[in-house]
Amino acid sequence: SSGSVIDRQSTENLRNKDNQHYLHPWEDIGSFGENQRTVAVGGKGIYLYDSEGNRLIDGPGGMWCTQIGYGRKEMAEVIARQIMRTPYYSPFNLTNDVSAVLAEKLAQMTPGDLNTVFFTTGGSTAVDSALRFVSFYNNCKGRPEKKKIISRQDAYHGSTYLSASASGKTRDKNFQDTAADIISFIGSPNPFRRPVGMSEEEFRDAKVKELEDRILELGPANVAAFIAEPILASGGVVIPPAGYHKMCLDICRKYDVLYISDEVVTGFGRLGHWFASEKVFDIVPDIITCAKGMTSGYQPLGACIVSDNLIAEISGNTGKGTIFSNGYTYSGHPVACAAALKNIEIMEQEKILEHVRETEPYFLQKVKELEDIPIVGNVRGQGLMACVECLLDPDKQSSLALDYEMGGRIDKKCQAMGLIVRPIINMNVMSPPLIITREQIDEMVQILRRGIEQTMDQLVKDGLWEMPVH
Ligand code: PLP
Repeated sequence: SSGSVIDRQSTENLRNKDNQHYLHPWEDIGSFGENQRTVAVGGKGIYLYDSEGNRLIDGPGGMWCTQIGYGRKEMAEVIARQIMRTPYYSPFNLTNDVSAVLAEKLAQMTPGDLNTVFFTTGGSTAVDSALRFVSFYNNCKGRPEKKKIISRQDAYHGSTYLSASASGKTRDKNFQDTAADIISFIGSPNPFRRPVGMSEEEFRDAKVKELEDRILELGPANVAAFIAEPILASGGVVIPPAGYHKMCLDICRKYDVLYISDEVVTGFGRLGHWFASEKVFDIVPDIITCAKGMTSGYQPLGACIVSDNLIAEISGNTGKGTIFSNGYTYSGHPVACAAALKNIEIMEQEKILEHVRETEPYFLQKVKELEDIPIVGNVRGQGLMACVECLLDPDKQSSLALDYEMGGRIDKKCQAMGLIVRPIINMNVMSPPLIITREQIDEMVQILRRGIEQTMDQLVKDGLWEMPVH
């Protein structure tokens, strides 16, 4: 499409427009207008191309979402065809062939009797819809007091008012109001942060007891649901101790509290299965939320998938005249649903789930090797997601001011060498496209190693840090 308005823009022009008019997610308002963002203009496989012609490995897989990689012609064709067939229908009074087929497909992929699919526009709206469904369900059942939601520190569930309220990263709430009255937080099940001298099992039991204690404290009659990511993703790839989820589910069952498993990141192959709840963590929740990898990021789409059991309790004669008044103009958008169906078909044909399970040990071993760098405190991961956490004083586990800058400093060094990493405070998370090969993993980890080492050398040079003597 040479000659189009977009193709004639220089990087500087684009950055100017971006700085002047584009407010980005999680923008630091203090430096609004001064950013020098990389301008992504192309992509192929695991690589993105910027407006300067540089090739960058997409370490975070977009935002944990580009499972099948960039530049898939089949996706473009299916999306274009669907636009010519039916670019839109109103989900409020009609249905559509692709959306109905996708709903059935998802029902077959989810565990247990999670067979009812509510389509949304992304992960936040999937979580929002799940929480609104839970409150609707309890109102239908004549127990309007059963409304409290228990969530966890380090959790990220989205950016609508309700899903943000259920998110547990405190720094994100410094300047934002939330529906704090209905959400109650328990501790993050991060074994890396457990008290010195405590075993992982003791730590797990303490975290599960915290859930039970909180339910009892609030009163089981007031607690509607527990919401949890199988692995806390944006919170720093926090992998709870073995057995944690199952024990939490048992506690929920004991007190008639619903379990919402937020699989926005862990779904669609990230951990080697369509959904991780049952296959990896041995739980069948009441509701699963998903998005991201469902379309590999080619179209915005999310879903909240509810168990037959819950639907049966409030539908039929009991439910006559009761409207679930929740939904979007773009619920079940046919172009997004067509993209999801094609994405799933590609993942099946190319055996991407099997590829993830085969590649996982190699990927984890390679990233784990980064622990020999003195400023790296911990490397953890599962499936094709990992987190490299820097600690400038590993013996203290303290949060030095400098720690807060580490992710950003490393990202900068890595980008200059052809790798995008996602910085979160002192952490860099990775969730590459699932099609990544072993050779590409080597390339990615080598650049990351050099980026971390260069950052460390810079700190020493600037007199900000000294190599510890042991
Ligand atoms: N839930 C989880 C676990 C997430 O990681 C995210 C986004 O990163 C969301 C929900 C929100 O999804 P979205 O950004 O598509 O609204």
